[in-house]
Amino acid sequence: MNDNTDVLIVGAGPTGLTLAVDLARRGVTCRVVERAPEPSGGSKGKGLQPRTQEVFDDLGVIAPILAAATPYPPLRIRVGRVPIWQARMHKRTAATDAVPYPTVMMHPQWRTEAVLRERLAELGGKVEQGVALTAFEQDAHMVTARLGSGESVVRARYLVAADGGRSTVRKALGIPFTGETREEQRSALADVRVEGLGREHIHVWARPGKGMVALYPMAGTDTFQLLASLRPGAEPEQTLTWYQRMFAERSMLRGVRLTELLWSSLYRVNIRLAGRYRSGRVFLAGDAAHVHPPAGGQGLNTGVQDAYNLAWKLARVLAGAPEALLDTYEEERRPIAAGVLGLSAGLHDKKSVKRDEETYQLSLSYRGGSLARSGGERVPDGPVELADGRRARMFDLLRGPHFTLLSPDPAPRVQKRGPEVRAYVPAQPRENARHTLIRPDGYVGIATSSPEELAAYLAMV
Ligand SMILES: Cc1cc2nc3c(=O)[nH]c(=O)nc-3n(C[C@H](O)[C@H](O)[C@H](O)COP(=O)(O)OP(=O)(O)OC[C@H]3O[C@@H](n4cnc5c(N)ncnc54)[C@H](O)[C@@H]3O)c2cc1C
Repeated sequence: MNDNTDVLIVGAGPTGLTLAVDLARRGVTCRVVERAPEPSGGSKGKGLQPRTQEVFDDLGVIAPILAAATPYPPLRIRVGRVPIWQARMHKRTAATDAVPYPTVMMHPQWRTEAVLRERLAELGGKVEQGVALTAFEQDAHMVTARLGSGESVVRARYLVAADGGRSTVRKALGIPFTGETREEQRSALADVRVEGLGREHIHVWARPGKGMVALYPMAGTDTFQLLASLRPGAEPEQTLTWYQRMFAERSMLRGVRLTELLWSSLYRVNIRLAGRYRSGRVFLAGDAAHVHPPAGGQGLNTGVQDAYNLAWKLARVLAGAPEALLDTYEEERRPIAAGVLGLSAGLHDKKSVKRDEETYQLSLSYRGGSLARSGGERVPDGPVELADGRRARMFDLLRGPHFTLLSPDPAPRVQKRGPEVRAYVPAQPRENARHTLIRPDGYVGIATSSPEELAAYLAMV
């Protein structure tokens, strides 16, 4: 079989699924292939940062996520039955006009993926489960990829490797994945059912000489995520009996019992960043491009935002925008991943459980890049007064795949094949920058008083 598509997405984790949803709502044809025969279990990346919630709002998935998600309950550390420390990991902040989603929410990764899959299906897309990319080559026009045992061939204009930390694609391209693997810092990670334990805390037991075990009550489920430190060289069995024994030894509790092991894995601390995010018509995104310690809950969130940055650019270039637009993906996202790596490695090393705004990803900006010379900041939500007397909310104006222009001149000069721009005349134009063009991913593209500069920007995208 030989099939053509615009974008081939390899991997249906949170990154690949976000990309697929964003491309599908732009009418871009894509195929999503996933090696695993079934959708993955595992609550793994469970913290959804405020900025990711804004992205999910735009993609139309925030309601089903918030229907199950909860803020992190207080964390309580005990030695046996004796509480020794209790605190909230995150500050509780009320929603404001500018920040409608102020709180890090807990939501199991498998459920985030399920919600994204459902949204993809609504938009007419699907994941081809049990289909692995095995080889590919590219020329100036197309990527040719082999799937499964090789008899199925896809020809795509672009390939996006969202195939995780061990990315087949990154390895095939020979892109270095520089950093460290801390073999000695391993954890056992599992989803379990537990008898005899309340769900109002994140429970942590620390037994000197034996180690730590934590149970997070997983929002929207009756399960707990279990995280246990491992001694260097320890090789846990992935069985309920091993987990029960380890838990009893570390918690020293009778009356609390693990009754079911639903999913389990070993977690090694990896801190690595790909040397490049692009090779010709192939892009790396998510864990394929950067892996972090889980501290600070940045991994999944950074991958979602890679996808959100890349999707509109792919769609625009497929619609005729200059190819150079795609170079801005690496230019914008790689420095962010480098910063996030430093942040999560720092939190991991400090063993700090307290989190603050720096993990929320609201202040990340693309300022100074070639696509944001006079902008780059995230556009906050808030009331907008329009010249015709209407009052709107900024996020309502932005929601959807279009560019948004706030300008006294509501008809920007867009080229024939230019992007869709929805223009609004604000009641009070900004003094220094009469025209503010907001990118589809919610960052200021350009703020200028010069119609020529605005037109030149639109020609780039
Ligand atoms: C065991 C474990 C525990 C974690 N715990 C946490 C945590 O506590 N907190 C946190 O924030 N983050 C955690 N993470 C990280 C978080 O899960 C990742 O950052 C997130 O899953 C990255 O999403 P992704 O879509 O980029 O990659 P992945 O979720 O890894 O998805 C990649 C997908 O690509 C598929 N694939 C791979 N190769 C091919 C191929 N050749 N062809 C087709 N498909 C392919 C894989 O089967 C997989 O489904 C954990 C990760 C793991 C593995």
